[in-house]
Amino acid sequence: MTGQLSKETAAATTPTFDLTNPATGELVGTYPVHTAEDVAEVVARSREAARWWAGLGSAERRRRLIAWTRWLAEHSDEMCELGFQETGKPRGDVQFELVASLEDIKWAAKNAERVLKPRRVGPGAAMMNFAARLEYLPLGVAGIITPWNFPLYTPFCGMAYALAAGNGVVVKPSELSTATGVYAVESFARANPDAPDGLVGWVSGFGETGAALCRSGVDKIAFTGSVPTGRRVMAACADNLVPVLLELGGKDAAVVAADADLDAAADAVVWGGYWHAGQACVGVERVYVVEAVRDAFLRRVRERVEKLTVGLDELSDYGPMTMPGQIEIVRRHVTDALERGGTALVGGLESIKPPYIYPIVLVDVPEESSAVREETFGPVLVINTVPDTDEAVRRANATNFGLASSVFSAAHGPEIAAKLRAGGTTINSVMTFVGIPSLPFGGVGDSGFGRFHGDDGLREFSRPKATTRKRFSIGKEMQAFPRTREQFTTVRRVLKLRFARRWN
Ligand code: NAD
Repeated sequence: MTGQLSKETAAATTPTFDLTNPATGELVGTYPVHTAEDVAEVVARSREAARWWAGLGSAERRRRLIAWTRWLAEHSDEMCELGFQETGKPRGDVQFELVASLEDIKWAAKNAERVLKPRRVGPGAAMMNFAARLEYLPLGVAGIITPWNFPLYTPFCGMAYALAAGNGVVVKPSELSTATGVYAVESFARANPDAPDGLVGWVSGFGETGAALCRSGVDKIAFTGSVPTGRRVMAACADNLVPVLLELGGKDAAVVAADADLDAAADAVVWGGYWHAGQACVGVERVYVVEAVRDAFLRRVRERVEKLTVGLDELSDYGPMTMPGQIEIVRRHVTDALERGGTALVGGLESIKPPYIYPIVLVDVPEESSAVREETFGPVLVINTVPDTDEAVRRANATNFGLASSVFSAAHGPEIAAKLRAGGTTINSVMTFVGIPSLPFGGVGDSGFGRFHGDDGLREFSRPKATTRKRFSIGKEMQAFPRTREQFTTVRRVLKLRFARRWN
């Protein structure tokens, strides 16, 4: 299997961990806890295979990546079932992840050549006798560390851009979604059986395995996960000066203006808040509604939230909390909000029935509450009222996070969106920029830095290389001794002419 260790190493890797369905407790799979030596072996194999991959050229890589999308589309039901069994999220949500992943792979495959191909660039006046060339080269091997909440999308997203840019890849999926992550990784080799073993590899385990990947000599780490782990990843990468891409948490706000279509806003905000039980980095956690439409908006939200269905049924709106520890964070946030004077419009502490949390809507929650300031990552919407959209923007921007945001307004969407501090903003809907592969995806502030998707996402996994070539000589060389007085005088004259005149 791709990414698997040699038989001798695998036999020596004794510790394992079990993955269970969070709602039923049924065993989904057992995986090794890989050590630093194991990780080094997988990275070395990927590095060897990456030479072959880089040498194929972008047209052949594109062909193989497209073959991969075909294989994945043919096996979509298998993946939806596995994702559901492992994380409890409805199969429809896993399918949603898969569609977004396929769009990403296809976009990266088709655009890598355009974005990364060598090109001539202007040499500028000072170097006019030189030709200048820019190219984007593969980095080597990218380590991709992923969370559990998007068990397919986060590995696929990292793999798509890193592979399209000509790199080998080693993925470390979350300990809560390893089966789905491993399936995603191994699917590449199934679609490309003649590719050298290990080009796309995986390692499994807990934080120590992730930390070992950071220190394994990979050429880049693309990490998706929480802020505290992101800090640890960055510190581990600092040892070898390994560049990092950090996709971290969020506390995304939606602004509802007085001229918003309130039915559409309520539909979108409820979906954005409760989709996947609120366990989405780009999920809506806070809503700032303008006073003039507060009551009408709350009525619409309440009607919709009260109809949500929770459970393991095929068409349940959302399923269980995947990570048991998150349930206590949700409980702490709701308790704090209520103790500080917030009101439960729907549900309350009694909605927390592990492994499920039924929908909770909190209103008028003081801004200093943890439910407003920290990532809740559960099915809880906080809706606060503001006098106008300026105040809504001020509050939306008042956290350290800056991943996504949304605004609902018939006439003022773009101008409000421009003031929101976030990596991406959606007008009159939620999260839609995530599904557009040509747009960069990533955050600001505590939500991280670096980008997946788009031209920026491909360049993220590349190394720009500058080459210049002397085309002709222009008399006395600037790049040669001895220094002469004439040279100084000539450059002085040109400098004044070029930069000090009014036409500049
Ligand atoms: P997490 O930070 O606990 O774990 C993420 C991954 O890091 C796991 O694979 C884990 O094993 C690994 N890890 C843990 N300690 C490590 C260490 N010291 N060195 C290296 N790797 C280590 O996050 P999680 O609970 O799996 O995921 C939820 C978080 O992810 C939320 O904060 C959510 O907002 C965020 N997230 C962000 C995005 C985004 O695109 N910005 C997308 C999905 C999830």
